[in-house]
Amino acid sequence: MQSLFELKGKRALITGSAQGIGNLLAKGLGQYGASIVINDITQERADCAANLIRQQGIDAIGVGFDVTNLNSVTTAIDHIEKEIGPIDILINNAGIQRRHPFTEFPEADWDAIINVNQKAVFLVSQQVAKNMIKRKQGKIIHICSMQSELGRDTITPYAASKGAVKMMVKGMCVELARYNIQVNGIGPGYFDTDMCKALVNNQEFTRWLCQRTPAARWGQPEELIGSAVFLASAASNFVNGHILYVDGGMLAAV
Ligand code: NAP
Repeated sequence: MQSLFELKGKRALITGSAQGIGNLLAKGLGQYGASIVINDITQERADCAANLIRQQGIDAIGVGFDVTNLNSVTTAIDHIEKEIGPIDILINNAGIQRRHPFTEFPEADWDAIINVNQKAVFLVSQQVAKNMIKRKQGKIIHICSMQSELGRDTITPYAASKGAVKMMVKGMCVELARYNIQVNGIGPGYFDTDMCKALVNNQEFTRWLCQRTPAARWGQPEELIGSAVFLASAASNFVNGHILYVDGGMLAAV
């Protein structure tokens, strides 16, 4: 049964994985045998993160590119496929957050959020899927959010982008499942990462979170690894178009 989750011989590209959730997922997939391609907007940060992962005995390489720029994405995916090796697993993880009241939300912040959280998922998936289709095999995982389902004060554009990513899981599933490519999503609840540090340090918010979440605590980023390994491995070969929420039960509760 263990071989169901084995990733030896597979290569995973994880966008925005020099830190945070993406970095943990990179280490997690690496521990299950995958070769890892770390991406960050700068080559330096990607190299640095890949170097640290290699020190854990995991095969890893850094490829810096801006996921929002079509030319950078096309060049980088070509480079990875030709010079490093085929991408078997793609995790679209790069994401940003900006917080403002809806009526004061600056257009530039709306554009930044939609570009990184939504458009980049389209650009990177499109280039990677073209090669997966030729091989008739692949796993694509979009990092969604509870905000794929729920709104929250001051983050309407983020929720709009994550709602769109949820629908990209479904649309891409419909178009790609016939090529033996499984497209699924992971929807993290509230996780104690850099992106959420201000909320973690806000005692009032943390009190509210613990009351609102059936598990009564913040998630630890390591707790996302199991879902990523499942959706990246043969264990999920007939799981298509699914969003796996990892949220301590928050979405189950009113
Ligand atoms: P994070 O620590 O801020 O990491 C995001 C990464 O994306 C950073 O390394 C960032 O690089 C990279 N990135 C941003 N723009 C990029 C670009 N244009 N090209 C390449 N890389 C880029 O955030 P996180 O908390 O780990 O979040 C990871 C994903 O999980 C996001 O999609 C987020 O929406 C989602 N999520 C997080 C939570 C949570 O509780 N943290 C909950 C639900 C969903 P730089 O730092 O160099 O800009």
